[in-house]
Amino acid sequence: MTDQPVAMITGAASGIGAATAVCLAEKGIRVGIGTFPGDPHDPETTLKDVRDGGGEGMIVEVDVRSTASVDAFAEALVSTWRRLDVAVANAGILREAAFDTLSDEQWHDLLDVDLHGVMRTARAGLRHMGDGGSVTAISSIAGGVYGWQAHAHYATAKAGVLGLVRSLAVEYGPRGIRANAIIPGLIRTPQSTDAVNSLGPEGLERAGGYIPWGRVGDPREVAEVIAFLSSPQASYVSGQAIVVDGALTVAMRD
Ligand code: NAD
Repeated sequence: MTDQPVAMITGAASGIGAATAVCLAEKGIRVGIGTFPGDPHDPETTLKDVRDGGGEGMIVEVDVRSTASVDAFAEALVSTWRRLDVAVANAGILREAAFDTLSDEQWHDLLDVDLHGVMRTARAGLRHMGDGGSVTAISSIAGGVYGWQAHAHYATAKAGVLGLVRSLAVEYGPRGIRANAIIPGLIRTPQSTDAVNSLGPEGLERAGGYIPWGRVGDPREVAEVIAFLSSPQASYVSGQAIVVDGALTVAMRD
């Protein structure tokens, strides 16, 4: 069936990306499961979950640090399914480093994935999209709302993503293509359970104490919002950033 929409999702072997692939597939979108060769998670698990839900998927290796790799991802989907409707720029890395110790290389390496990778994914997707297309990029409360000590490079990239989607919304609105961002709060994934660079399992447990919702989020709860933004139901939503955080960032500390 060629009338079924097609999505490219980067970083889809784990966490929010994997949940997004499954969620979009359940809603009738054929999913390109972008998987980073260095990732320890097996993308076949995502593909199996997609198929178990009655969906259609395809695994494509992609390194968002490479323009050729990202372009090839989009082209592989178009050559198989003859269309591309949705780009989800999800791939990201998190590295803790005090700002005054940060090398140029550490700065560039992180931005190459978390900001330039988002740019490359959006650009590759947009080239193939027509009316009704959508780009959703994953920002973070770090940079999207808050500052975060020892994560200035990450927060800078995540703030940059917001400027990017706003500009794309303006530039591609006349072509009927929307661009938005998601600002996740604390979501239980391999990134946040990494105790070296993020909160780790104990920190996430403690976070339940100060998040009004009483717990950290599940990747599926982010994926559902991405699915909404990727759907025709969001036809007049563009250039926006939606916070998905269990009310963490609106809570006043008393
Ligand atoms: P995750 O580590 O499971 O997912 C990140 C994915 O990016 C992985 O699949 C990884 O293989 C992929 N990736 C890393 N480098 C890549 C590269 N060079 N090319 C292609 N893919 C690459 O963690 P997650 O939490 O699901 O992260 C998804 C997104 O959500 C990231 O952008 C992250 O910064 C953002 N985010 C997460 C949280 C959270 O609490 N988990 C909060 C805010 C924002």
